[in-house]
Amino acid sequence: METTLVLLKPSCVQRQLIGEIVHRFERRGLRIAGMKMMQLDDAILREHYAHLVDRPFFPTLAASMQTSPVVALALSGVEAVGVVRAMTGFTNGRKADPGTIRGDYAMSNQQNIVHASDSVENAAIELNRFFRPEEIFDYKSGVFDFLYGVGEA
Ligand code: UDP
Ligand code: MG
Repeated sequence: METTLVLLKPSCVQRQLIGEIVHRFERRGLRIAGMKMMQLDDAILREHYAHLVDRPFFPTLAASMQTSPVVALALSGVEAVGVVRAMTGFTNGRKADPGTIRGDYAMSNQQNIVHASDSVENAAIELNRFFRPEEIFDYKSGVFDFLYGVGEA
């Protein structure tokens, strides 16, 4: 079982798509292990996007991420990191496959609705960045035995 970090970006919050996107993750069978709204400051964005701070688009990216609160989600499931990343789709919404979140809701390379951790290692780091340990809940899904076959989870 893995847990991954998703951020519903201001492009999601402002377009009033929070419920729709959360619904897609729930329908897939991911368990919501943590969920909260937060206003991101410069420090957390510089850390979260450390791989991009020197890119020319970083100032507009950081500004766009502060135009409203975001919703942070911790999602759990077997191979959840890869499953959620596949659901997210290619970074540029215009190039993302239909059926993915970005491919269904985004027309932008920047205002692309969601962030999703890209590896198990980064998921652990990012969950720790956005959640305190007591904000992530370990409970058994009521439909667990119908989400996975015997021995799968
Ligand atoms: N981004 C951008 N311009 C670019 C590439 C990325 O504004 O040319 C933004 C976009 O919002 C993206 C985020 O920076 O989601 C993080 O970029 P990354 O390459 O990590 O893409 P992701 O993992 O989100 O698909
Ligand atoms: Mg990334």
